[in-house]
Amino acid sequence: MTADLRWDGQTVIVTGAGQGLGRAYALFFGSRGANVVVNDLGAALTGVGADGEVADGVVKEIKAGGGSAVASYDSVQNGEKIVQTAIDRFGRIDVVINNAGILRDKSFRNMKDEDWYAVLGVHLDGAYKVTRAAWPFFRKQRYGRLINTSSATGLFGNFGQVNYGAAKMALIGFTKALAKEGQKYDILCNVVAPMAASRMTATVMTQRSSDQFDPTAVVPLVAVLTHRSAPDTGGIFEAGAGHFAKLRWQRSRGVILRPDDSYTAGAVLAKWDAVGDFSQSDIPDGPASMMAALEQGLQHDRNPP
Ligand code: NAD
Repeated sequence: MTADLRWDGQTVIVTGAGQGLGRAYALFFGSRGANVVVNDLGAALTGVGADGEVADGVVKEIKAGGGSAVASYDSVQNGEKIVQTAIDRFGRIDVVINNAGILRDKSFRNMKDEDWYAVLGVHLDGAYKVTRAAWPFFRKQRYGRLINTSSATGLFGNFGQVNYGAAKMALIGFTKALAKEGQKYDILCNVVAPMAASRMTATVMTQRSSDQFDPTAVVPLVAVLTHRSAPDTGGIFEAGAGHFAKLRWQRSRGVILRPDDSYTAGAVLAKWDAVGDFSQSDIPDGPASMMAALEQGLQHDRNPP
């Protein structure tokens, strides 16, 4: 699928590229002509500690394959340093893949402030800081490709991952707004919700699913979305084990209460089935579509079929 796609002369930053998904992305871009900034703090899964060898190992692998790469050991929370490494070493920046991540899984009852802020700090603030530093370069050259990494937990929720879910859903709003700001400058921004065997999923995957969910299976989607010919922006995509799909919102037709219903809680409750009835739904693509749906509902109310 990605056999013919190349990034010759382009610089790609991959955060959290020392292992797991980030490593798979970095090795791929390194084999396709890109100059790769292999960023990894080398932290434990909980975000504590640091180990420069994690990034170094991937840089070595890329170079051994004839590719071009530099290690960056900064935390994504110092995103400007990672972008500076790209500029100092390669003179430009074309693609940013915000992938670094940690987990502090705990039930909400047991979650401490530090677990909340650590997870938000790496996933959300980290993506913000790297993107904030890269954006002026994207704007100036009127070109950029950005991937932010969400998760099924961000989309659907998961027990014990309130912090992680909040960060991962926030990244969707972040990406969708950036996609609107970037479009006229050919800066395309998309969200990937991956599923892959890594230390993050080690406790929930069996050996069989681990083999099936090799991180390299997510690479083709990231490749398509970061290529010059990328076909989409503002999208949310799932990838894992050879499955590729796009997600979108759906709005039920809902109900419109007449003023004589007094907009009371009782009136809403009486129509609750209709509020959640998706048999006549639409696929909203922006705030304006809500006004259109409202207008349509009022028309229907004025002139019942
Ligand atoms: P991983 O733990 O294998 O890799 C994450 C890397 O990020 C590690 O090498 C770690 O050192 C690095 N990192 C942590 N904090 C950092 C920081 N502050 N600055 C720089 N680097 C830092 O995890 P993975 O499974 O490859 O996950 C990659 C991304 O995909 C994460 O954002 C994760 O939330 C997301 N994700 C993964 C899955 C999955 O199935 N593996 C599912 C949904 C989402």
